[in-house]
Amino acid sequence: MDIVKIMKFGGTSVGNPDRMRALIPLVTDKDRKIVVLSAMSGTTNNLVEITDLLYPGNVNEASSKIESLRAAYHQVVHDLFATDPFRKTGHELIDSHFDYINNFTLRVFTKLQEKAIIAQGELLSTSLFHQLLQEREIKSVLLPALNFMRIDKDGEPDYFYIEENVSRELRKHKSETIIITQGFICRNVYGEIDNLKRGGSDYSASIIGAALKVKEIQIWTDISGFRNNDPRHVENTKIIRELSFDEAAELAYFGAKILHPASVNPAREKNIPVRLKNTMDPEDEGTLVTSTSKLVDYKAVAAKDGISVLRIRSDRMLMAYGFLRKVFEIFEAYRTPIDMITTSEVAVSLTIDNPQYLNQIAQDLRELGTVEVEKNQTIICIVGDFRTERVGSAPEIFLALNTIPLKMISYGGSPNSLSLLVDSSDKIQALKLLSKHLFS
Ligand code: ADP
Ligand code: ASP
Ligand code: MG
Repeated sequence: MDIVKIMKFGGTSVGNPDRMRALIPLVTDKDRKIVVLSAMSGTTNNLVEITDLLYPGNVNEASSKIESLRAAYHQVVHDLFATDPFRKTGHELIDSHFDYINNFTLRVFTKLQEKAIIAQGELLSTSLFHQLLQEREIKSVLLPALNFMRIDKDGEPDYFYIEENVSRELRKHKSETIIITQGFICRNVYGEIDNLKRGGSDYSASIIGAALKVKEIQIWTDISGFRNNDPRHVENTKIIRELSFDEAAELAYFGAKILHPASVNPAREKNIPVRLKNTMDPEDEGTLVTSTSKLVDYKAVAAKDGISVLRIRSDRMLMAYGFLRKVFEIFEAYRTPIDMITTSEVAVSLTIDNPQYLNQIAQDLRELGTVEVEKNQTIICIVGDFRTERVGSAPEIFLALNTIPLKMISYGGSPNSLSLLVDSSDKIQALKLLSKHLFS
């Protein structure tokens, strides 16, 4: 029997014993499915804090954080299970994970140990959920993601390996309808434990769904569907019922936290619908992301923080060719992707979201002209109908934002979005103004 769907449940959807129990009716329909779980909410942050303490050798503080997290998990076990044998197994499980984490306080601490510790969140949540189903005598199997999820030397999913290995693993469990696995975690090209970066469980779901060519990839979270603006900053956001892959990818990339930025790609590649659903309101149909969607003047707005802008000015650019190539080569040398770009005849502005090599890049660019760097910028992406043949699509945007300094405008690069750069301190006001003028 083929796998019909992927059901990915995020941190809040497994965030406490009640929430975990609430998943049971959702996963027990007759479809053969893979249930991808994130860590319980807050756990990955806690584990990251522990690793941050272990790097500089702050063992005492790390140990006390480990012990308080251990205690919190013992409480979860106590509340989650109804019978003593399962509580006992649960407590043993928790101790084995936390004893493992504790081991790392005794050694030199490297990236390797960091990744192994951060992986414990998903390993814990999936084991607990699997045990819960066993206690209820619901048949399920726990498939370790570390047996089939893998990234290549560039950190990209190794699709060939994943497809081969997940299919092989599944052949061992042909009659099971509920197959549980971990989101986020994987192995790297050296076989070490690694991960798909923060929020990566959505990406796991999409990668596995594409590998198995399922009918639908479902991302279950704590909100009903994709909203037309960031609900963390703007009130009265509305659900968008349909999005195209391109629109969803753009919104996710430019900051809509509901989806990991890369998670649309695998689904788009295999044309598999992605449905966003709410675990707290399972009846709500949520948002469906497919290859097509209705064109709407303005569909949604998202914002991405932590952007730096580099402005290069050079008279040598005037009437010259090859100048931009030299600029781009510098970014390439530092493996730093460029998000936004605008040019005039003598100047070019570029934004990046990874500041790791910002100083070196700026230094190298100074060979080409004068360079100005500004940090703490935010890209605001407006998704809608921005086909170049269309007239009058942008005036509402500029009118809405006429009190906010716009640092860069990128229009015409994509038929379904327009991006703007603003100071991060202007972000919330800009998002509110856009909602007021474009969506109300
Ligand atoms: P999970 O733990 O289930 O992966 P996340 O916290 O990663 O959940 O993503 C869901 C959250 O994304 C929502 O609670 C909401 O605050 C935030 N969010 C940001 N932008 C949007 C948007 N445009 N639509 C819906 N949710 C959004
Ligand atoms: N637990 C991981 C995180 O918090 C992955 C995820 O939730 O998607 O980033
Ligand atoms: Mg998430």
